[in-house]
Amino acid sequence: MNEIRVRFAPSPTGYLHVGGLRTALYNYLFAKKNGGKFILRIEDTDRTRYVEGAAEQLLDTLKWTGLEYDEGPDKAGDFGPYTQSERLDIYKKYALELIEKGKAYYAFDTPERLQELRDYQYANKLQPKYDKLALNLTKEEVNEKLKAGEPYVIRLNVPENERIIAKDLVRGLVEFNTDIIDDQVLMKSDGFPTYHLANVVDDHLMGISHVIRGEEWLSSLPKHILLYQYFGWEIPEFAHLPLLLNPDKSKLSKRQGDVAVEDYKNKGYLKEALVNFVALLGWSTSDNREMFSLEELVEEFSIDRVHKSGAVFNIEKLNWLNAEHLRKKSNEELTNMLRSEYDKSRFAEIEVSDKYLSQVVEAMRERVSFVNEYIEKSPYFFERPTEYDQAVLQKRWKEDSSAFLKAYADKISEIENPTKEDYDHILHQLAEEWQVGIGKVIHPLRLALSGVGIGPGMFDLAFILGKNEVIARINLAIEKIKI
Ligand code: GLU
Repeated sequence: MNEIRVRFAPSPTGYLHVGGLRTALYNYLFAKKNGGKFILRIEDTDRTRYVEGAAEQLLDTLKWTGLEYDEGPDKAGDFGPYTQSERLDIYKKYALELIEKGKAYYAFDTPERLQELRDYQYANKLQPKYDKLALNLTKEEVNEKLKAGEPYVIRLNVPENERIIAKDLVRGLVEFNTDIIDDQVLMKSDGFPTYHLANVVDDHLMGISHVIRGEEWLSSLPKHILLYQYFGWEIPEFAHLPLLLNPDKSKLSKRQGDVAVEDYKNKGYLKEALVNFVALLGWSTSDNREMFSLEELVEEFSIDRVHKSGAVFNIEKLNWLNAEHLRKKSNEELTNMLRSEYDKSRFAEIEVSDKYLSQVVEAMRERVSFVNEYIEKSPYFFERPTEYDQAVLQKRWKEDSSAFLKAYADKISEIENPTKEDYDHILHQLAEEWQVGIGKVIHPLRLALSGVGIGPGMFDLAFILGKNEVIARINLAIEKIKI
């Protein structure tokens, strides 16, 4: 069997679309699963969409996701260069080969004539298509025009009324009639190839065995098949991946939420969660399992299980996966992540040790979905409460709460290095002495220490804050809360 080689071939637009990530991921998984190669090719021949620095940004983002490619613009292979704008001579050569074979032709139409043609077709409800006028030119006329330096394009000579049947690994047999296909421009007047020519030439020259890409390219398939046939090249296998949809089933768009991988990265999503989430956009295992690491995805992935119907982008699921993947991380990893978040936070000026952060991580582990929530959900680890949740206060703070907390603080102050158990034990002991239920005293204590009514284990919190801080916070609450 021929070597399995797949590619992700984005056009750099300034960001990596989540749909692009899904395409990259399926290609990656397919390659890894089958012992093949995953290639990154930058398709930057559309100069009107050129964005400075976009290709570099794309490479960076792709690297962040962990989808390592075997060959690419910055990873030498035998088939480079892997950036299309560096391959212009190659496309020219192949375009001329098609002209030689009569499968493509020069066209010198002015933009005005093409506009007139379109207007006419529109007015007469005809399919907008080039009318092959340039095919009437004799060889001599063409040469003269070329000599005179007239601007031209090279067009694909699409036959009339022929059937093109192709096999798609997701959709099965797909059939097209050539009548619906325009005489596609292959080389533009600026000397750059169009996507269609460059894409097919490169897929062939780079030995691509399987073309796995989004459904929006399915309509280009007949043109590509024609090109393969005209060149006399072996046709690769194709798999067109289902569209990504907004929850209202419209095509996923910026208007309804973020579509750039960079946005999710900046919002603090884990790459593991994003990759896991994107894997499920159009693919599932028979038991509908949801949690996967990248390695597990490689293990489980199969193109047969890619769905035909559109995949709904459900942000709640992504959030859930983020929480799950976050919880799976070691304390050390989370502490490092919290450290970099902390150093960017409003508390950065206040020095805290890694040990302290690691204790926060342990206490809050089950309560956070994002790393920044270690700070946002529990700022009281880093600052004294200055306000107290009014609703909790009214419900939980009783007449004798101050006196009780004072007694508690006194007892704590007598212990040199109170352990978590000490905080617990003393509270229970005192409650018994005062003949009050533990619920009656635990809530005021939490309010004094954190300012709010819910949070991590109370005695974990007290222990992490430390004796002096606990006493100081109790005194502050007694002073501030007057009922
Ligand atoms: N350059 C195309 C894109 O931006 C590639 C499509 C394909 O994979 O053939 O998605």
